Amino acid sequence: MSFADFGLVPELLHALSDKGYVAPTPIQSQAIPAVLTGRDVLAGAQTGTGKTAAFVLPILQRLAPAAGRFPRALVLTPTRELAAQVAESARSYGKYLGVRTTVVFGGVSIHPQIEALRSGCDLLVATPGRLLDLAGLGALDLRSVAYFVLDEADRMLDMGFIHQIRRVLKLLPAKRQNLMFSATYSAPVRELASRFLSEPVQIEVAVRNAVAERIEQRVYRVPKEQKRHLLAHLIRAGSWAQVLVFTRTKHGANRLTQQLQSTGIPAAAIHGNKSQGARVRALTDFKARRITALVATEVAARGLDIKELPHVVNYELPNVPEDYVHRIGRTARAGGAGCAISLVAPDEIPLLRDIEKLLTRTLATTAPPAYTIA
Ligand code: AMP
Repeated sequence: MSFADFGLVPELLHALSDKGYVAPTPIQSQAIPAVLTGRDVLAGAQTGTGKTAAFVLPILQRLAPAAGRFPRALVLTPTRELAAQVAESARSYGKYLGVRTTVVFGGVSIHPQIEALRSGCDLLVATPGRLLDLAGLGALDLRSVAYFVLDEADRMLDMGFIHQIRRVLKLLPAKRQNLMFSATYSAPVRELASRFLSEPVQIEVAVRNAVAERIEQRVYRVPKEQKRHLLAHLIRAGSWAQVLVFTRTKHGANRLTQQLQSTGIPAAAIHGNKSQGARVRALTDFKARRITALVATEVAARGLDIKELPHVVNYELPNVPEDYVHRIGRTARAGGAGCAISLVAPDEIPLLRDIEKLLTRTLATTAPPAYTIA
């Protein structure tokens, strides 16, 4: 299967070959033809599967050429990082088509966004709150939206966006094509899907197993108070250049970052209490390898586009087993291999059992390698 088989226009194929994509990923193989036929789509896919291109490519194809002042496609994302990343993808895939992409999110000044919208846009990527603010100010008319995408719907609901989503839906014209992407299917996610999708094509990619197969997963039993020493040892002994470390709380992320720094390991924390500027800086430093360890909370890490990450560490196991799959998925994006290490204290064993249930396999726990306390 190649991208050309979908009947994508040469401008898109050219952009894809610039990106070095050789073949579509499974979600792309299923979603692109479905979207091009005009059907609603409900897709179970998480970050790392190539889901962004799966909806962006066919929508760009439908949007070209650029026309009118108001957006004809709207992508709603839970976080500003994800919004920025989707917009960046849309711009790079659409660079030969002339489709105009604009991104709006909260936490930054609204005026440049009003200006950007004034100059006209075809594809709008937005977080819900800022979108509603802009619509309320009359800076935005959503009545031309013919394609609506709800990205990471499960995360949207987790973050409490249900009311905003409902309000956005009311601003859209009745006749439109709807796509919904979600990594997991809880009852509220299904309820939302049934509310706005009409006879959707349902797509499920076997990410869980694919993820579990490609990624080396190690589980070390280690007392809570020893974790930081073990982590510092693993980073040093393995000469790790880049590791994403997940903690359960913002406070925990700050504390661990300081502890790593004090042992000479360049580290930065990324979480919801950090300003947009601080988050961008931490991410840029991490990507440029100026810092070794990026310590993140679950929510803050969502939507971070960090590619081919060699190591992910669960400093604490997540309470929600699906989050484990999200987290470790970052090590094996679009074909790359990776290693996910979990540091599990005795009181976290029940969380580990829940994760094993979701993965439908057991994870062997081992004693950690010998390390000295720094
Ligand atoms: P996503 O799941 O949309 O976050 O995409 C994960 C990563 O895979 C992104 O960095 C994309 O640039 C990359 N990607 C998407 N589609 C392909 C493809 N067909 N071949 C290679 N890489 C891809």
